[in-house]
Amino acid sequence: MTLQAKASAEVVDVIQRLAEGGISFSASHDGPAGKTTVTLTPKQLELFWCDPAAAFASVYGVSRSEYIAWHESGYMVRCSELTSKGKRCRNAAVDAHLVPSPDRWVAMQGGYCKIHSEGWNG
Ligand SMILES: [Zn+2]
Repeated sequence: MTLQAKASAEVVDVIQRLAEGGISFSASHDGPAGKTTVTLTPKQLELFWCDPAAAFASVYGVSRSEYIAWHESGYMVRCSELTSKGKRCRNAAVDAHLVPSPDRWVAMQGGYCKIHSEGWNG
């Protein structure tokens, strides 16, 4: 899903003037350790105006859907192995229980849990 709405020319102008005045922008989002605060560029603040998730995704260099999936997963990367019943293993991948940022979460996809990384095919 893409949001079509954009910050109006007036909003863009205000953001530009604040940035030129030396004001910086920060915003907080939920994460595994509570709130995480990040700095937004003026362009990211324009994005934030209409679509905060897209702005945060931009901060981390991931897609909007990856950013949302990171939250929806409970910040956990699921093991990629299939069980003998053909279902995806429900364990977390090694060291991927509470992944602190969505870019790391994306990078850790495809990992295996402790059992499956040791070559056991259950
Ligand atoms: Zn597994």
